Amino acid sequence: MNGNPSATPRALRTVISIVGCRNAGKSSLINALAGQDVAIVSDRPGTTTDAVAKPYELLPLGPVTFFDTAGLDDTGELGALRVKAAKKVLYRSDVAVIAVSENGLGQFEKEIIVEVQRLKIPFVVAFNKSDIKAPTEADIEFCRDTGIPFAEVSARTKKGIDELKNLIIDAVPEDIKREPLLAGDLFNPGDVVLLVVPIDLSAPKGRLILPQVQVLREVLDRGAKAVAVKESELTEMLAELKRKPALVITDSQVVTKVADEVPEDVPMTTFSILFARNKGDIAEMYRGAEMIDRLRDGDRVLIAEACSHHVLSDDIGKVKIPNWLRKYTDKELTFEFCQGSDFPEDLEKYALVIHCGACMLNRREMVHRIKECAGRGVPITNYGLAISKTQGVLERAIRPLGLSL
Ligand code: SF4
Repeated sequence: MNGNPSATPRALRTVISIVGCRNAGKSSLINALAGQDVAIVSDRPGTTTDAVAKPYELLPLGPVTFFDTAGLDDTGELGALRVKAAKKVLYRSDVAVIAVSENGLGQFEKEIIVEVQRLKIPFVVAFNKSDIKAPTEADIEFCRDTGIPFAEVSARTKKGIDELKNLIIDAVPEDIKREPLLAGDLFNPGDVVLLVVPIDLSAPKGRLILPQVQVLREVLDRGAKAVAVKESELTEMLAELKRKPALVITDSQVVTKVADEVPEDVPMTTFSILFARNKGDIAEMYRGAEMIDRLRDGDRVLIAEACSHHVLSDDIGKVKIPNWLRKYTDKELTFEFCQGSDFPEDLEKYALVIHCGACMLNRREMVHRIKECAGRGVPITNYGLAISKTQGVLERAIRPLGLSL
């Protein structure tokens, strides 16, 4: 064991949920996987109510959180609440383990499989309690025919637990495993990178904001030269530079001015667009920005910010983006807002989600939010892409990223 696994912030850990019917042995399975007694284990079906989180170092993958969930076949009023809580965990999962009891794959398990496939959550099947009864040939054939990874396990005897751990590691998607660069692949050592940083009322006193600091650090790490100016000094700086910058990165709020002043042959993008790529799925978020053209009267748009802050009179999320969207679409739109970890469950009611740059979220958590939207068929984009779209400079601002869209 390398250090204390619970010392890693929760958002940095891979989320693995154990789902299934009541008494499929989910709690015992987590105990066996984590090598400890963490969940309530009872012979009575449906003992687990709220999801129980267990941090664990799953080597060679790294820190994970196993979530023990209530049985998805739970009934009654309380049961419905338990199922709701279990589904909430499922939506946030990087990998789902579908625990199957000695009764094998029934209609309910097959419905769970359909649901996780719909949500595009990688999953494995654990035929638990195989010491009592081995899975039937029909169930094994079903998994083989449909390409579902499975293991015959026994939480009691620990049979197959190592195999199950390996299947879980294999199932973790590459986009969760890797942490892409912000901008470091968009220029070469020795290049000049010009950063446009407005210092207005929304800028924090005496410091830069995290996206600016992170990009600046990447420029320095790569051995390139960073030049930072306010938008009011941009033209002068472009004239003073002996050679053209390899890249201009601007705050989205002044993207129109910057696009006007930076020559067409100089690549230009925004901090927020770089974050759309770094934190999530730029192609998905670009498609979300294109949805702006299809908004209709009466549509609801969710503006989501990953941290709370004092709201200014011309707040970017509360005021500017809604105004730009109304002006661009000429539609009667309703805007709703959420902040911090409070990301709504009833996403289906929105025609579009516009998310902040998510500098305070790690990639994993942002990918979860994108997946939650995708699973409900709700387009999602981010501030940088949405602003560039409404200002008519989206194609230019994504060009440096070399996307094949
Ligand atoms: S998390 Fe979002 S709202 Fe908070 S500072 Fe970063 S980009 Fe802005």
